[in-house]
Amino acid sequence: QQSTETEPTVFSRIVAREIPADIVFESDTLIAFRDIAPKAPVHLLVVPKTQAYRDVVELADGDPALMAEMVATASTLARDPAVFRDSDGREHTGGSFRLIFNTGESAGQTVFHVHAHVLGGPLQEGTLA
Ligand code: 5GP
Repeated sequence: QQSTETEPTVFSRIVAREIPADIVFESDTLIAFRDIAPKAPVHLLVVPKTQAYRDVVELADGDPALMAEMVATASTLARDPAVFRDSDGREHTGGSFRLIFNTGESAGQTVFHVHAHVLGGPLQEGTLA
């Protein structure tokens, strides 16, 4: 019997195309797609394909180069007019973006497969994510 720890996360199931997602970028190591419940005009998730790291602390310790790749990918996507647009088609490619790693349950982390929230567009008052 498989332990719950080795069951595919929702993000691994997106990588495997077992559940649909609006994928905007994919490489050998990373995938990026639109968050299903956007908290900003543009809300992407940048996710390592491996689910070996639960959160950004484990990732920074275990594979800092992969973490740097996530940051570089967030920056590239935030400059891409085909990607960094809201649901009305407005571009938010000024080069500014917010990068959020919720870390731990009480910080609001719900998926324990490290992911960066990449938020763009005008800031919404009173919310961080
Ligand atoms: P966390 O709260 O763990 O930092 O963020 C998890 C994020 O994943 C949430 O913003 C949530 O909306 C998003 N999410 C959860 N399940 C799915 C899904 O099946 N598809 C997509 N595109 N996003 C998801």
